[in-house]
Amino acid sequence: MFTLPTPAELSAANLHANNAKLVCTTSADIPLVTNPISKASPAPIMNSGVHSASAAYVRALLSHSPDVIAVLAADGTIKFQSPSVLDVLGYEPNEMIGRQSFDRLHPDDFTSITKLFAELAAEPGKISTAVCRFRHKNGSWCPLDCIGKNLLDDPLVNGILISSRHNAQQRHMEDRLRESEERYALAMKGTNDGLWDWDLRTNRVYFSPRWKEMLGYSDHEIGSTPDEWLNRVHSDDIAALQADIAGHIESHTDHYEGEYRVLHKDGAYRWMVTRGIAVRGEDGVMNRLVGSQADITDKKRIAELLIHDALHDALTKLPNRTLFVDRLQNCLSRAKRHKEYQFAVLFLDLDRFKVINDGLGHVMGDKLLVDLASLLSSCVRPEDTVARIGGDEFTILLDGIEDISSAIRVAQRIQTALTVPFALGGQDVYTSASIGIALSASGYQHPEELIRDADNAMYRAKSSGKARHQVFDSSMHAHAAALLQLETDLRRAVERKEFRVHYQAIRSLATAEVTGFEALVRWQHPQRGLVYPGDFIHAAEETGLILPIGWWVLHEACRQTAEWQKNIPEAQPLTINVNLSSNQFAQPDLPAQVKRVLDETGLSPASLKLEITETVVIENPEAAGEMLRQLRAIGIKVCLDDFGTGYSSLSYLLRFPIDTLKIDRSFVSGIGSGTENASIVKAIVALAHNMGMDVTAEGVETREQLLHLQHLNCENAQGYLFSKPVTAEKAFGQIGTAAE
Ligand code: C2E
Ligand code: MG
Ligand code: MG
Repeated sequence: MFTLPTPAELSAANLHANNAKLVCTTSADIPLVTNPISKASPAPIMNSGVHSASAAYVRALLSHSPDVIAVLAADGTIKFQSPSVLDVLGYEPNEMIGRQSFDRLHPDDFTSITKLFAELAAEPGKISTAVCRFRHKNGSWCPLDCIGKNLLDDPLVNGILISSRHNAQQRHMEDRLRESEERYALAMKGTNDGLWDWDLRTNRVYFSPRWKEMLGYSDHEIGSTPDEWLNRVHSDDIAALQADIAGHIESHTDHYEGEYRVLHKDGAYRWMVTRGIAVRGEDGVMNRLVGSQADITDKKRIAELLIHDALHDALTKLPNRTLFVDRLQNCLSRAKRHKEYQFAVLFLDLDRFKVINDGLGHVMGDKLLVDLASLLSSCVRPEDTVARIGGDEFTILLDGIEDISSAIRVAQRIQTALTVPFALGGQDVYTSASIGIALSASGYQHPEELIRDADNAMYRAKSSGKARHQVFDSSMHAHAAALLQLETDLRRAVERKEFRVHYQAIRSLATAEVTGFEALVRWQHPQRGLVYPGDFIHAAEETGLILPIGWWVLHEACRQTAEWQKNIPEAQPLTINVNLSSNQFAQPDLPAQVKRVLDETGLSPASLKLEITETVVIENPEAAGEMLRQLRAIGIKVCLDDFGTGYSSLSYLLRFPIDTLKIDRSFVSGIGSGTENASIVKAIVALAHNMGMDVTAEGVETREQLLHLQHLNCENAQGYLFSKPVTAEKAFGQIGTAAE
């Protein structure tokens, strides 16, 4: 801080006063004023005429000089003080004289200045300069540029001459600082943010009143140690906060910003964001961190809500497909890193959800899904994920399992839990689920592949009898791939009109005459030859292609029958049975479309019998009842196909307007084998007759079966005993012939 003085600075230092008696002395280099008494004085530079006036002259100079001149004793006591001290520091000289000059020094300058002064006092002739702050009489700190010279060995002075000047540049800076502090204080008042200022040298933190208020405290309740802050930060967030601050201090970042939870006085945590910046001293060393803190609890809550909604199913509150896939991806990544780690995906689909939803209404359907969601969650461990990914489709991620048997056990547990009925609106509702399982061990790359395979396995479980589970194996994949190929081929077949209709005779058991035919579709495949419905009807239904195929069959069968009727006008009008799939039956304009086909082909409605299965009726009883009534109104007959294979009670089905009951061939084949089938068939025929329906037996293969059916008063029969389904040409040949 101390430097060698410049000649100009020295000029001030050479002025000397002793009480009121002013004496001039000289520096060795630049004589300015001559001391008339000093023997050592060089030649006077003022003319001799001013000698007598020199005391007054010097007094005048001193009182007008902007510099403050003082002479101190070796212990710092002020021996002389020039009048200008009044202007600069606000004191009268006599308020200064006799006092210890260091008394009014700024505490921060005290040590350095007293040390410097001691060094100055120890060496006669030594000159030192310093900058220090001196207390003004008005209480403010006045920055002074000082220069001192040890004149203790000068018998006239016998003291240390100090010349001080107000440091204008410092004043300017202080003014600016004060302004900026005022601005800062105003900003602090105005902002909603809390402010903190961490002095790294003292490790004290200034927390603004607003900062404390944000945590529920008043100003005096929080001290100024960093712990007041850090000890309140949530244990999950503290490590990141400290690491970020440390990283910033080590200059890895140009500013610091972080979010954390902090404990409020009310015991709850609040989310805060803090932004800070390091302040460096002139030496480049960081000595302060200052920053702000804003409460972002509400913002966080809204953001969390939005994220939650985007990742969860609104009805059941379970994770949705997006979140499920994300968790699955994590498991896949983990499985790649740890070879022994395994997980499984379960795909679950309710077996009769549509029936329940339509039968009991959507409110109850929703309630069932909610209850099912909690049931599923109760069947797995907390680390597993249960998700709802579609209407009644749920997926379960079993995270970290021993082997496939763990996954099977979970599936069994779910199926056992589902044997207990759900209480919905005062009713006990039974349901079951089909579950497919895919295991991670098969080297999957993408989450969707696992879901797809679990879905395939579920589908297999459903088609092999429902209420069961199935583990995916690669043959299913081949099956799924074949199904895809089939769909492609089917589309092409529709375009190229590769379908044919074969006809199977239906004979009267009373007269053995052909009363009509059942139209059965075949696919004339260019490579595979004749393909039977069992190999493609399901795929056609899944893809919706059954609609164009079905309409074509209906049209063709009606056209053919009308042609036969025209060719044999004398015979009893032949009937034609056409199978309808549930997709067709669900078309609201079905009656109108059928009517149009009849009009186009010229077939009378009374000659057409539409075959539907009981699932078609059960799936949507109200709509089915209405549809059946409309068809009847046109004069078309309806036949319930494959009767006995479903689960429905006969009395329930008989409530619907149905003309013919077709007993499934599984019952017919049992007749005569000594099983109870014969009595079941007998009961069915009796009940159907009671309800005004007639009965057709399917799949009659033996004479014994035929005799039994005749004995039971069954009206019609159809089966290989009479004929297999044949081409229209061959079928025509059967009309009017007796059975062989
Ligand atoms: P379905 O309506 O029950 O038709 C009777 C099936 O039993 C026919 O098989 C027929 O060939 C077979 N069958 C007849 N008599 C006997 C017998 O004595 N013994 C045995 N073992 N089988 C016999 P197909 O033609 O393979 O048809 C299978 C199913 O495909 C049909 O069952 C029907 O549900 C469906 N289907 C056939 N054509 C159509 C169609 O045009 N539209 C729709 N939606 N479904 C069709
Ligand atoms: Mg049929
Ligand atoms: Mg049938």
